[in-house]
Amino acid sequence: MNQTIYDAVIIGGGPSGATAATDLALAGHSVLLVERGGRIKPCGGAIPPRLLADFDIPQHLLVAKARSARMIAPSGRAVDMPVGEIGYVGLVDREKFDEWLRERARHSGAERLTATFEKIERDDNAHPIVTFRRSRGGPIESVRARVVIGADGARSAVAKQCLPGAERIPCVFAYHEIIKSPERNSENFDASRCDVYYQGRLSPDFYAWVFPHGETASIGVGSANKGFSLRGAIATMRDDLGLERCETLRREGAPIPLKPLKRWDNGADVIVAGDAAGIVAPASGEGIYYAMVGGRVVADAASAFLKTGQASQLRTARKRFMKEHGTVFWVLGMMQYFWYSSDKRRERFVTMCDDKDVQELTWQAYMHKKLVRAKPMAHVKIFIKDTAHLLGLRPATR
Ligand SMILES: Cc1cc2nc3c(=O)[nH]c(=O)nc-3n(C[C@H](O)[C@H](O)[C@H](O)COP(=O)(O)OP(=O)(O)OC[C@H]3O[C@@H](n4cnc5c(N)ncnc54)[C@H](O)[C@@H]3O)c2cc1C
Repeated sequence: MNQTIYDAVIIGGGPSGATAATDLALAGHSVLLVERGGRIKPCGGAIPPRLLADFDIPQHLLVAKARSARMIAPSGRAVDMPVGEIGYVGLVDREKFDEWLRERARHSGAERLTATFEKIERDDNAHPIVTFRRSRGGPIESVRARVVIGADGARSAVAKQCLPGAERIPCVFAYHEIIKSPERNSENFDASRCDVYYQGRLSPDFYAWVFPHGETASIGVGSANKGFSLRGAIATMRDDLGLERCETLRREGAPIPLKPLKRWDNGADVIVAGDAAGIVAPASGEGIYYAMVGGRVVADAASAFLKTGQASQLRTARKRFMKEHGTVFWVLGMMQYFWYSSDKRRERFVTMCDDKDVQELTWQAYMHKKLVRAKPMAHVKIFIKDTAHLLGLRPATR
């Protein structure tokens, strides 16, 4: 059978797939971007300014800018962390943001297809066949690809089919309700502040949040505990915060993977990126920036593979990513493991956030996506304070 053959077929048009599609098309490769559509990605939409700079994203895609974060302890004590002069937390509406990224991919030369990926099949031709359906119950269609990129999100079908262990990536399940924002700011809601609740009653192992999105707001919670009622937690939170009367526009949830896959490629012609590769920061659940970085390093590796024919080029993507972000992921993983395990520790964690050095380094790390080495003494001070909190040598409240 004569089939269209693309250099790259990318499954999933979220931040990761759309970034990979843009980069590969700009590098002169023929690209098919397959997105099933029909669903807005459930997401708090918080992004660092570095994302706008690194990926050339216009400011108009921001629906809000948060200038501070409020950390709320199990006791109800709140610690404010103003961002200061160094930046802000940007907030995007994923319906518009993702579509803008997909359209940019199209303008860069990628072909867009609205269809649901089914399978990767092989015959005696060197290149795999990618099958998909344009509608539920519709006929199965196919194209060939020199390389297939799975950017189809958490619990990726591409990863499950092609990469051993992919079905075992540990996940937190996150659920949120999009509400109409209250008309006025109050103690419990501020349109320029992200609120993060570290309370075991709202999440036994992660956190809950209220993120402003301009006219709307996301009230959400995550947990890996299957018996825990996420909807119940949000109902409690809305009651407590006086947000129960705000109109609910959407209720939705999705898994957040919290561990990078050990291998992103199959050693031949398939590679995964973004949530499909498990690259969401532990502790924070931040995944948009990392998905786009993942899309970019995977596109570079795929391009090198397409030019040289050496499948070993695909391996460079994970190496590059982990070299740049592996330490931050490790530190955040330890943080989540330790500080999110009991209310006593959460209380101490929030107390630590009251420290100006901790605040400065946290924001620097968030803005720049690396552990800032410029102030070694601040790290030492934090290490000492951290250890004192860990050992319970400092009081949890001030
Ligand atoms: C409730 C919640 C809140 C979050 N809040 C934040 C936050 O505030 N900030 C942050 O940085 N991160 C947040 N995250 C994480 C973030 O949303 C993800 O890490 C990010 O979207 C990953 O991008 P991606 O492109 O890898 O995958 P996705 O955004 O999941 O995109 C995958 C795409 O693939 C498509 N797809 C899937 N299967 C198929 C198929 N078979 N065929 C065709 N297309 C397919 C989907 O439709 C989707 O468009 C949150 C996640 C959740 C669940």
